[in-house]
Amino acid sequence: MTRIYDVAIIGAGASGLCAAIAAARHKKSVALLEKNARVGKKILATGNGRCNLSNENIKPESYHCKAQFAFDIMENFDAREFFASLGLMCKADSQGRIYPYSNTAASVLDALRLAAQNYGAEEICNFNAMDIDNKNGIFCIKSENDSVYAKSVVISSGGYQSNNSSYKIAKKLGHKITALSPSLCPVLCDDPVLKSLKGIRVNAIATLLDNDTPKKSESGEIQFADNALSGICIFNLSHMVSACKKPSVKLDLCPDFSHNQLKELLFKIKKDRKKNLCEDFLSGLFPKRIGQALIKDIINSKQICDINSEQIEKLCKKVKSWEFNVRKNESFKNAQVTNGGVDFLQIKNTLESKLVKGIFFCGEVLDIDADCGGFNLNWAWASGVFAGTNAANFGEKR
Ligand SMILES: Cc1cc2nc3c(=O)[nH]c(=O)nc-3n(C[C@H](O)[C@H](O)[C@H](O)COP(=O)(O)OP(=O)(O)OC[C@H]3O[C@@H](n4cnc5c(N)ncnc54)[C@H](O)[C@@H]3O)c2cc1C
Repeated sequence: MTRIYDVAIIGAGASGLCAAIAAARHKKSVALLEKNARVGKKILATGNGRCNLSNENIKPESYHCKAQFAFDIMENFDAREFFASLGLMCKADSQGRIYPYSNTAASVLDALRLAAQNYGAEEICNFNAMDIDNKNGIFCIKSENDSVYAKSVVISSGGYQSNNSSYKIAKKLGHKITALSPSLCPVLCDDPVLKSLKGIRVNAIATLLDNDTPKKSESGEIQFADNALSGICIFNLSHMVSACKKPSVKLDLCPDFSHNQLKELLFKIKKDRKKNLCEDFLSGLFPKRIGQALIKDIINSKQICDINSEQIEKLCKKVKSWEFNVRKNESFKNAQVTNGGVDFLQIKNTLESKLVKGIFFCGEVLDIDADCGGFNLNWAWASGVFAGTNAANFGEKR
């Protein structure tokens, strides 16, 4: 006889594992469908293997999402409490980023996997969901050679980079998918100077401009790659790039000095190093290769004593606003999250579809993404628990 589960969950990543735990805690039979050979593989790569699982300061400004109820869901969720209930202890660093106490992402995956097993959720791996049908109130989820039946379904298949065939499923159910673009990724720039700066890191304020209009600023470490700018503050600007007509990133490499203070400082350096070569003019402020790249095109004399006031003025401007034209974001492959997804306008505040009763969505497959700092995983856990609980209750309401 064909088995009918109370809840089937498509995608056993961060949000799907939480949905499975929540539904199984409600004593429901749960099938956790995963296209990979193992569940939760991506969790292991998060936070450089340490899993930055939440943040002490969860605030709407860190999320890119128009649905107010997404924040209500997160307001009623405490990641530390949830993980403590699974036997996993957490701690926060000085910037409020929450990590597992063990400092290893494997502990987070183990906690989720063990809890899902203990509550009786059934893992079905190597199951790539490709289609859903509904006959007489029972959903049939199909992979290439198998079918699973359930009374309700949670779609938790992640973003575009998870090779996500479930966007097609959502579309087939009538759901609108907003424009998808890579986010939390490096930005590609064509400036040939970048080749000579590859591998260097500096602290700066980075501002994303569209047609010279500032859109967003972030401060922190910038990493130079041979055709891109990278680093957490660049990642946090990347979600806006695809909406810009003429994007560029402006770097203030000396945020601690005003233009005039910097000018004064450069005149002092000129005096102190007058006998030295120009290539060392800025090496007391920046890594040498950065200094050389900054003076290129401005200073052509050999010795520091020959640098004139006009050149110092130009140099100050460049240090305070070094601009790089952005071609586009890096590919999905090199992005941590997807910007865009299943449109919240067709989703109830229970995370159930407004179009198909009994279908729920959670995690990154929805049109929500966030800055670096544990915010994306916080949404995955919170929405997973919420959707799993509501999917479990769905059967009872019928
Ligand atoms: C390198 C990296 C580091 C990151 N670090 C952090 C961090 O430290 N902190 C943070 O907050 N966020 C981080 N993120 C983002 C975070 O991992 C995601 O926001 C989060 O995993 C999203 O959870 P999800 O459950 O929606 O999707 P996922 O975790 O991607 O899970 C989706 C699952 O669904 C499966 N699947 C997809 N389609 C199907 C299908 N058709 N049938 C069956 N299964 C399917 C996938 O194989 C996958 O297992 C990082 C991301 C990356 C790539």
